[in-house]
Amino acid sequence: MSNAPPEHAPLVQFDVQDDCLQIGGMALTRLVQRVGSTPFYAYDREKISERIALLRRHLPQEILLHYAMKANPMPAVVQHIAGLVDGIDVASAGEMRVALDTVIPPHRVSFAGPGKREYELRSAIAAGVMLNVESVQEMESVAQLGMNLGITPKVAIRINPDFELKSSGMKMGGGPKPFGIDTECVPDALKRLAALRLDFYGFHIFSGSQNLNASALQEAHAKSLQLAIRLADHAPAPLRLLNIGGGFGVPYFPGERALDLAAIGENLQRLMPEVQWQLPGARIALELGRYIVAEAGIYVCRVLERKVSRGQVFLITDGGLHHHLAASGNFGQVIRKNYPVVIGNKVRGGEREVVSVVGPLCTPLDVLADQLPMAKAAAGDLVVVLQSGAYGLTASPTAFLNHPVPIEVLV
Ligand SMILES: *Cc1c(COP(=O)(O)O)cnc(C)c1O
Repeated sequence: MSNAPPEHAPLVQFDVQDDCLQIGGMALTRLVQRVGSTPFYAYDREKISERIALLRRHLPQEILLHYAMKANPMPAVVQHIAGLVDGIDVASAGEMRVALDTVIPPHRVSFAGPGKREYELRSAIAAGVMLNVESVQEMESVAQLGMNLGITPKVAIRINPDFELKSSGMKMGGGPKPFGIDTECVPDALKRLAALRLDFYGFHIFSGSQNLNASALQEAHAKSLQLAIRLADHAPAPLRLLNIGGGFGVPYFPGERALDLAAIGENLQRLMPEVQWQLPGARIALELGRYIVAEAGIYVCRVLERKVSRGQVFLITDGGLHHHLAASGNFGQVIRKNYPVVIGNKVRGGEREVVSVVGPLCTPLDVLADQLPMAKAAAGDLVVVLQSGAYGLTASPTAFLNHPVPIEVLV
C-alpha cells in the first residue's frame, strides 16, 4: 500500500524518528507520559519562534508584527510570542487581560471586534489599550467613558473597505459587514472623532482570513494603503498606525501550497516609499494569528477501539469535535475536507489502511478524518491531527456532551 494517494500536506514541520513523531525535542510517546493523559494539544515553542523569524526575514524591517491572539489564546503561548512580536491584537476583555500580563506595552495592545461591552471599553481605556472602533456609536461611547474616567482614549478607526480580499477562506471586509465603518462614512466619522477629542492613532483594515494566494494578499495590501492615504486627508492628526490586518493562510488540505511569503514581503517593500512619502510617521502593522501558530500545534488523542462496520474501518478515539471543531469540518468549511491526520507513534507504519477517525460523541458530525489512508492502528495508538495550533481548542464547543476539557502544553 506504499503507493497510496497523496495523503496530506507534507509533514515538513515535525521530525519523525523511529517512526514516531517528535515534538518539542521529544518523542510523542514520551510527551504523552509527561502530559499524563489524552487528549491534549501540544504547541512547539521552537516552531513558533522559527515562524516569527521567517516573517521578520521576509517583511520590510519597518513593519510592526502583531499577534492576533484569538487564533490561540493559551497564556503560555501568548507569553512566548509576546517576547518576539511588537504588539498583540485582542478581541475581548478576557484576551486583553492575558495580553496585559505580557511585556507588550498597553498602547501596542489593540482591541477590535463589534459589540464591545461597556465594561470592556472602560477597562481598555483605563489600561491605555488602543481601541479599534467599529462604529460611530461605539466612538461616542468611548468618548463618554473616557470623559468619566478623565482619560483620553486611544483609538483607531476600523474601516470596512470598499474592496474584497480575493480567494480568502473567510471574508471579513467588503460589501455589507458588521465589522468596521464603511469607507464612504469614514470622512464624517473622522469629523466626529475630532470633535470628541479622541487620541487618534490611525486605521485598521482587515479583509479576510486563511488566504494562500499571495497575489490576492498583495492586491489587498496595496488597496489598503491606497485607501488609508485617501482617507488620511480627512483625519484630525497624522496617522501613527496603519494596521493592514492578518489573514495569511497555511495549507491544510491535499493540493494546497504554502503561502509565498517572499512575494508578499517584496510587495510591501515596494509599497513602503509611497507610504513613507504620503503618510510620514505612520507605522504599518500586520496582525497575524493563524500563520504564527497553526503549524506549530498538534492535537493528540488515543484510539479506544478499532471497529469494522460493513467493511469500513473506524478508529474510535477519546477526542473529537468538542475539542477540535475545525478538524471535524464544522468551522467555516463549506465542503468537509480532511485535516492532515497521522498515527503519531507509527507514522509510516508497517501496514496501512484507509480509516475514518471518529470521536465519542453521539453525532455523525464527530469525525476527525473521513476515509483517510494511515498506518494500521489499534486500541492504544495515538492519533495526531496536524496543523492544529490555530483556531483549535479555542474555537471548539467543549461543553458539548460534557467530556473533560483537554490539556494544553507548550513544549
Ligand atoms: C481574527 C482576526 C485576525 C487574525 O486573522 P488570521 O487569519 O488568524 O491571521 C486579525 N485581525 C482581526 C481584527 C481579527 O478579527
